[in-house]
Amino acid sequence: MIKPERDKDDIQEEIKSLEKGIKELQDELEQKKGLTQGQKLATFLHQKTCRWNHVDGCSWDYTSWNNPDSTRLKYLRKAEQMLIEDDFVTIKRILKNI
Ligand SMILES: [Zn+2]
Repeated sequence: MIKPERDKDDIQEEIKSLEKGIKELQDELEQKKGLTQGQKLATFLHQKTCRWNHVDGCSWDYTSWNNPDSTRLKYLRKAEQMLIEDDFVTIKRILKNI
């Protein structure tokens, strides 16, 4: 397949798009560094148990821990209840095989 020749505007547009992607990844990384154990466990619980589309179904991907919606808060409450019973590492190890 022959790659279409790109002009200067196309290249600048692609650079902007890639820079936006890098910024989003940097924001995501910074956010993950500062998460509480409850938020980390809630994220893990969501990954393991949610069967919805995370954009239209449960809205997880539309939100963040900086501005959590009812879905994130529901998982956070479950995670915090689990953390009363046992520690993060143990709970995660138990749930890993679900
Ligand atoms: Zn989901």
